[in-house]
Amino acid sequence: MPEEIIKGIYRIRVNLPNSPLKLLNSYIIIGEGENLLIDTGFNRPECLESLTEGLKALGVKMEETDILLTHLHADHSGLVPKLIKNGRRVFIGRDELPWMYGETRSILWELDNIKVSREGFSEEVIEKHLIKAPSRNMASEPDFDGFTPLDDGDILSYGGYELRAVLTPGHTPAHMCFWIEDEKLMFTGDHVLFDITPNITLWNFVEDSLGDYLHSLREIDKYDVRIALPGHRETGDFHGRIAELLKHHEERLDECYKVLCENPDSTIYEVSGKMSWKIRCNSWEDFPITQKWFAVGECHSHLRHLETRGLAVRDDSEDTILYRAVQ
Ligand SMILES: [Zn+2]
Repeated sequence: MPEEIIKGIYRIRVNLPNSPLKLLNSYIIIGEGENLLIDTGFNRPECLESLTEGLKALGVKMEETDILLTHLHADHSGLVPKLIKNGRRVFIGRDELPWMYGETRSILWELDNIKVSREGFSEEVIEKHLIKAPSRNMASEPDFDGFTPLDDGDILSYGGYELRAVLTPGHTPAHMCFWIEDEKLMFTGDHVLFDITPNITLWNFVEDSLGDYLHSLREIDKYDVRIALPGHRETGDFHGRIAELLKHHEERLDECYKVLCENPDSTIYEVSGKMSWKIRCNSWEDFPITQKWFAVGECHSHLRHLETRGLAVRDDSEDTILYRAVQ
């Protein structure tokens, strides 16, 4: 059953099959004749079923509902084309649009394959596994292009509430949180999660994704948030959690730097294999391949950030990128 958070705002738990995230929090703001659904779940029947069940229990009609996406990831955006009705709108941060559909999406996915290969994954692994990643095969249909772009500071009004878009790049290039000032309520998407640490990868066409993320964390810390509504799992102490996340990344940067000092001229894949990961596996070799992909992406964003701090140098003159510490 959906759970009411404050008057007219509900959380629907959407099951995420075969995902360590377990569930997505979809939120709905119910207004008179016009509702707003925030995030949807993967493009999978299990997600559609749990979401539509929740919407039905609340008597929500999609003919009267717009959709708002916190970011481009498939576990948030995958079901949009299946849910949206004619004439209704789907909002998303402007710079997420190229990743959402059509030719730009195909090109960006292809560039991701090249990036992964430059990080040190073998061609065989890329062809056999990575092109089948959940982020791709559970994404929305590639021909759906009915998005309305949002910019930082844009205001949306639903159910008597005003939501202000707060651009929080890092987890994705134009991730957004949404702030209801009157209620001191923030929809945090995957920018601030409480039970898990948001994955920060290095995005193509972004100089320093981790640097952006840390900056966005400090910026959002300035809001007097009393109710934080995250994209996954449960809520918690907003400012306390931001402090923890900042500390976590400083520790990871330290660890990454240490590994690099001990192993000069390593590939990103090699550095990742020497870092510690919170996963029940005996060795790096035993990591499930999609988890390895997340881990290497995470390591890459940390190495790039060390570089911007002047603590590492990158040699990308060959096919595979090599990193070395500046001591
Ligand atoms: Zn997510």
